[in-house]
Amino acid sequence: MKKEDIEKKYNELVNSIEKKRMYDGRGTVDRYTCDTCGHVIYTTYRDKGVTPFTIRCNRCGGTKYHDKTYDKKTVPGYVIVNDWYRPTLEQTLKMSDGMIQHVLNGGLILEE
Ligand SMILES: [Zn+2]
Repeated sequence: MKKEDIEKKYNELVNSIEKKRMYDGRGTVDRYTCDTCGHVIYTTYRDKGVTPFTIRCNRCGGTKYHDKTYDKKTVPGYVIVNDWYRPTLEQTLKMSDGMIQHVLNGGLILEE
């Protein structure tokens, strides 16, 4: 995709997503549990967007599944929560074609 096309689609997405009727996970915390080693991570939404049902386990290379959602207000402060966020246009332009497509479809990425 050309840079101008990515820019146009990105701006359309950012301008329309707040009004779009879709699931908004802000205010919730999701738990992902690895089906191989049992490691869990907690995530939340910094931006409105789409997140995957599974993510790769950074401990064992297995798969972590989204298995529980909590109200953010009930999660104690000592729990480490990683944010799903929408990369900026500048960050998006540097990504692979597959990732650009993901972002332009409303997809968020997980902070490290
Ligand atoms: Zn694992």
